[in-house]
Amino acid sequence: MFKANENYLKLPGSYLFSTVGRKQREYSAAHPDKKVIRLSIGDVTQPLAPAIIERLHKAVDEMAVAETFKGYAPDLGYEFLRNTIAKNDYADRGVDISADEIFVSDGAKSDSANIQEIFTADSKIAVCDPVYPVYVDSNVMAGRTGTYDKNTELWSDVIYMPCLADNNFAPELPKETPDIIYLCFPNNPTGATIKKDQLQEWVDYANKVGAVIIYDAAYEAYISEEDVPHTIYECEGAKTCAIELKSFSKNAGFTGTRLGYAVVPKNLKDADGVSMHSLWARRHGTKFNGAPYIVQAAGDAVYSDEGKAQTKAQIAYYMNNAKVISQGLKDAGYTVSGGVNAPYIWLKTPNNMSSWDFFDYLLENANVVGTPGSGFGPSGEGYFRLTAFGTYENTVEAIERIKNM
Ligand SMILES: *Cc1c(COP(=O)(O)O)cnc(C)c1O
Repeated sequence: MFKANENYLKLPGSYLFSTVGRKQREYSAAHPDKKVIRLSIGDVTQPLAPAIIERLHKAVDEMAVAETFKGYAPDLGYEFLRNTIAKNDYADRGVDISADEIFVSDGAKSDSANIQEIFTADSKIAVCDPVYPVYVDSNVMAGRTGTYDKNTELWSDVIYMPCLADNNFAPELPKETPDIIYLCFPNNPTGATIKKDQLQEWVDYANKVGAVIIYDAAYEAYISEEDVPHTIYECEGAKTCAIELKSFSKNAGFTGTRLGYAVVPKNLKDADGVSMHSLWARRHGTKFNGAPYIVQAAGDAVYSDEGKAQTKAQIAYYMNNAKVISQGLKDAGYTVSGGVNAPYIWLKTPNNMSSWDFFDYLLENANVVGTPGSGFGPSGEGYFRLTAFGTYENTVEAIERIKNM
């Protein structure tokens, strides 16, 4: 008789957002007259920008004509898109990443979950706490995390790096040496960032101890402050220790359209000199058949002059919401961080309420849904995440309700 992969059976509980959704539906069913506002979603709400839509239409028309029809895409991505990315995201920032170090994918969630496959099974991972759940869960599935402690909600073989208010929610270098370090800046869920000299310390550390950094830069486009790095390759030596993941989801509204990329530098070699670039190319070639042509064409349009201007305006719209949330909560006496270089606001629950108690309190008294910080890890307990991805009108109304609670 066949047997399930025992590693999958170790995954604890239900996915955070299923619980949030269920609680919201139960409340709405019991109170059909109340308008519930969701500031919980990590998903965009603005439609795709006109320049992107136009390119999508054109690409669809190309598929209808024999001369311009496209079958399988090259599995590492179309040359036109990889060149555009290399120029705009790297060369224009003074960073030397070549087009063939860029692997186009269907998004950063799959890349961040799959990248661990090219490292040995007994690699030790280090993650921030709180953290985007995909990094740990994908390593649980790979059997790399040891045993789970229900009380502490920690895995025995994972190195946790608590991100707390004392350090502006930035991790400290771990005491135990990891093989793989997951970093995400600007951060989901805390909205925190680190400065370039702080990231340089991580790069120096990784090169010194022989660790690899998986750098999730999904929110790069939200950076508004000087001195906050847009790519880890701005740091000296990053090409021998870092893989960078990018997504078109949050900067250009591709959450439903699906496009992302990973940078695996050719100089990234393991202890025996094995090229991780070749391994990822091999993995991509075997397990991925390329992002759709029409989507890659649309992705290229994100970097056109119109595309840049239009997506910039969308980000400004969300960041204005972030300001409304941040300022409104401060006026109401809350302790708030994030929301400056990221569409996430991280707030301290009032009166030492637990994250889930505050979730219920907010739902019942303001009819606003957010995300409990504890759902992202034990160090998130006592915190709460609100997102700026709603409409302006709903955001203003939600904050007015919270102020009047
Ligand atoms: C949204 C998000 C992503 C992007 O996922 P896609 O699969 O590209 O939509 C990646 N990392 C983090 C931390 C995110 O919040």
